Amino acid sequence: IYTCHTPVPAGHDYFDEELLGKYLGHIPGRLGISWHDFISLGRENPESNEKFSMSVFALNTCQEANGVSLLHGRVSQEMFAPVWKGFFPEELHVGYVTNGVHLPTWASAEWQELYTKHFGKDFLKKQTEEATWAKIQQLPNETIWETHQAIKLRLVEHIRSFYGEKWLHNSGDPETTVSILEGINPNALLIGFGRRFATYKRAHLLFTDLERLERIVNNPKYPVQFLFTGKAHPADGGGQGLIKHILEISRLPQFLGKIIFLENYDMRLASKLIAGVDIWMNTPTRPLEASGTSGEKAEMNGVLNLSVLDGWWYEGYRKGAGWALTDKRTFADQSLQDKLDATTIYDLLEKEIVPLYFQRDGKPYSDGWVQTMKNSMNFIAPHYTMRRMMDDYYERFYTKLAERSARLHADSNRIARELTEWKRSTAEAWDSMQVVSVECSESAAYISNERHTGDEETVRLVLDKGALTSDLEVELVDAREDAQGRLRFVAKTALTLVERNGSREVYELRFKQARPGHYKRALRILPSHPELPHRMDFALVRWVALQ
Ligand SMILES: *Cc1c(COP(=O)(O)O)cnc(C)c1O
Repeated sequence: IYTCHTPVPAGHDYFDEELLGKYLGHIPGRLGISWHDFISLGRENPESNEKFSMSVFALNTCQEANGVSLLHGRVSQEMFAPVWKGFFPEELHVGYVTNGVHLPTWASAEWQELYTKHFGKDFLKKQTEEATWAKIQQLPNETIWETHQAIKLRLVEHIRSFYGEKWLHNSGDPETTVSILEGINPNALLIGFGRRFATYKRAHLLFTDLERLERIVNNPKYPVQFLFTGKAHPADGGGQGLIKHILEISRLPQFLGKIIFLENYDMRLASKLIAGVDIWMNTPTRPLEASGTSGEKAEMNGVLNLSVLDGWWYEGYRKGAGWALTDKRTFADQSLQDKLDATTIYDLLEKEIVPLYFQRDGKPYSDGWVQTMKNSMNFIAPHYTMRRMMDDYYERFYTKLAERSARLHADSNRIARELTEWKRSTAEAWDSMQVVSVECSESAAYISNERHTGDEETVRLVLDKGALTSDLEVELVDAREDAQGRLRFVAKTALTLVERNGSREVYELRFKQARPGHYKRALRILPSHPELPHRMDFALVRWVALQ
């Protein structure tokens, strides 16, 4: 199984043939294949001189493939479509398992204690069930708040002691440092942002309109503070520029102590931060966040997510359990999209998040806020644990692959040998197959809005299979053009083999038009074998036009 982890091009390696030859020149000989066959496994177009792609090579040598969230599974299908010509992206076998995080590592000790006490001693075994987490709804709001607030205080103390010393040591300005440290307010709405500073993560988004941001962080009645942290790849100048930009903003007088950048982001700081803030913010460029995991860590600590509907949050978001930047409107122009998304964040903060957080009604906490925390722990957290992820891998891939492997290897690899021999002879004879004739009733070739549905149509295909002995699947495929002019798969219907005479075969379909609308139609012929795991495993395809 090949698990693809990102749609970002920098995450996919490509190598020149020459370089590959220097290090892997001996490999084809060991496998008993030619250099050309070997290098073709890493090319979308085997006869080209494209660079060798590790991802294409993985796809061609793996039985199964998956993305790391529902949305990323779809994005991967699009991205990998050129590897399997003759199929629509949505037909590909590329599936998905949404990433999850390891609860015993990422939930704070305080929360784990509370879970064990109230969910039951064996709660780790039942951590993927909403029913387990539903018990959070019965706990007093005060208990939830006090648990969270204790962790938040610990974070503030960590920043004061650990960073205080560093900043004092590094800066020539102790006065400013002290005022930042004293300004960190455990009663403020604390919003965290921490991750790799890859440019697609848009760490700069919050700083699109500085005047508006200034009003949000300088409201004396409703204090709001931001903690930023992260590292850029040493070769990513863009990402490093972003860090510099945020540092500069954090030193402006109006943002001093309100926007705080913490250096040396690592797992230890991450675990303090994702548990100690009130909100965890994520603002990637859609649809480039394959999954994201830091927001999942926040979930199991009662920290609410404010995030773009991308990656795991696209499927994880529930109303009343966090906040989402809508995916309804999208602009092709990225700077327009950035402006819209930034405005949405300011609006959400001003109109929903800040008022909810500070609606105290004489208590030290907001009942509405704590209810949102409870909802997020009840309805979201159980679905993003490592345990759920492992369950999915077993259910969707591992068990199936283990059983298939055992079948193929039984009897000294009997089925593997048969299948290999069948593939070899079928590939060799494929081009000797000829279409003798295609006939169809006048209007079977297409459907248009003007036509009535319900009329009986026929399609008849006569083939001369030549040297080909393999069984075939013949199907009528409907497709439609989407708004971008790309063809999309709609449906397929199998034709029946009605006559066989030597190498001559006749396939037929009688059907009623069922869907009004504009569709394109054609016939598709594929080789068929009961031991093929899926069509992409042996992707020979012949398309036949209807007219
Ligand atoms: C969880 C984690 C990440 C991943 O963060 P995303 O926001 O999902 O990109 C990166 N770095 C560290 C140190 C982490 O703990």
